Amino acid sequence: MSTLPVFRWRLAPDGYATRRQLRAAGLRPGGQGVAAQLERPRRRRPPLVAYLYRIEHARPVRPMTPAKWAALAKANAARRTCPHCRHDAGYVIPATLGMCVACAFPEPAESLRSA
Ligand SMILES: [Zn+2]
Repeated sequence: MSTLPVFRWRLAPDGYATRRQLRAAGLRPGGQGVAAQLERPRRRRPPLVAYLYRIEHARPVRPMTPAKWAALAKANAARRTCPHCRHDAGYVIPATLGMCVACAFPEPAESLRSA
């Protein structure tokens, strides 16, 4: 029951884009259904299918809400907080160290000063 227009690969008309192309442009399908599909024939296998959306019906990617920003800031703060000394290191704690640089290399203040 395919009532969708089907286009040959690379022959999609203007005004259509895949979800990935929309995303690259800061857009999302915005509730619209698939408007068309691209088919790329493959030997002895079913064709590769890409779904297309109408660009004119696309919507901007949902803007960040204050709650989302807060959650993001909290997550970033957690990633900057040294689990050893509990201080905000000011940078994301390197996973390879598992703690801030000051905790990982406590002694050589001399070498740090000259750096
Ligand atoms: Zn630390």
